[in-house]
Amino acid sequence: MPGPGEFELIREYFSSRFQTEGQPRSGSQGSADQSVVLGIGDDCALLSPPAGKTLATSVDTLVADVHFPASADPYRIASRALRVNLSDLAAMNAEPLWFTLALTLPESNPDWLEPFARGLSETAQLFGITLVGGDTTKGPLSITIQVTGACDAPLRRDGAGVGDHIFVSNILGAGAAALPIVLGEIEGSAEQQQQVDAAYYFPEPQFAVARAIGDFASAALDISDGLLGDIAHIGEASGLGAELDLERLPIAPLAQSIKGEQALETALTGGDDYQLCFTVPEQHLRALGALQLPITAVGRMQAESGVRCRLYGEDWQPGGTGFRHF
Ligand code: ADP
Ligand code: MG
Repeated sequence: MPGPGEFELIREYFSSRFQTEGQPRSGSQGSADQSVVLGIGDDCALLSPPAGKTLATSVDTLVADVHFPASADPYRIASRALRVNLSDLAAMNAEPLWFTLALTLPESNPDWLEPFARGLSETAQLFGITLVGGDTTKGPLSITIQVTGACDAPLRRDGAGVGDHIFVSNILGAGAAALPIVLGEIEGSAEQQQQVDAAYYFPEPQFAVARAIGDFASAALDISDGLLGDIAHIGEASGLGAELDLERLPIAPLAQSIKGEQALETALTGGDDYQLCFTVPEQHLRALGALQLPITAVGRMQAESGVRCRLYGEDWQPGGTGFRHF
């Protein structure tokens, strides 16, 4: 039986599930989402930005067999696609508002669309973001999501100062360690499979940490391509360099159990963590410490450009510098 046509598909899987004008938005304490004047269905969505805030917007494309296995569970693909985009909002300390979805599908298949739409709407609910439009085309499977949020005090990459302390949130290396199991290259124990599933398909955008560090951080980004490459981005944007003390890295147990001796390298250069990396001037350390956040100090910004790594005081050369497409 052929699947639904383009307009039926949009109605069945997207507009009927995401009719949100004037509806309560999760995360907004039940107040109506007045920001969506007109949602899916017209030539454009009509959106009313919150007064006095700055809008933050970002887009990311996930291509089948590049960013996720084409045969993966569609519910999980949707979860990952939206969460990695939300992570960019979190990294700017922006509160989620709206997103659009450009979906390219090889076929109109309800068995794929149903769990995909469910994954998307449940994830959207969880983070209080509303689908307001999109585009549907035929071709090799690819998912483009554009997210928009609102911020009072955006956390940019270019504000770090010499001597600022470098922090990371939570643990590093789980996303990259998960990859060979996600790709079926290695099997993994039942326990590892579970951790892999969480790390790869349900990465946690760090909104709470971003909100908490908002008053203290001088620069921030989310670690999508590995700490080593991403701290270099803060350095370049701020006209500085960095030194990292690798024995301090909070290495994910999953990276230890899958990568063994390469766990440190995985935590340093592996991608897909979606944790925050941020810098804090010395004078805010005490106030930040009082918040008892799940963060670890891993180094300092320095005037000399480039990233210098030390392990127990000795210079240390990593093999790679993070994921690059080209
Ligand atoms: P147009 O021809 O004006 O570009 P479309 O026919 O592409 O409009 O889409 C009709 C409506 O459905 C628009 O409001 C668009 O935003 C929405 N839409 C299309 N595809 C999707 C999708 N995958 N997810 C959400 N909304 C979609
Ligand atoms: Mg139109």
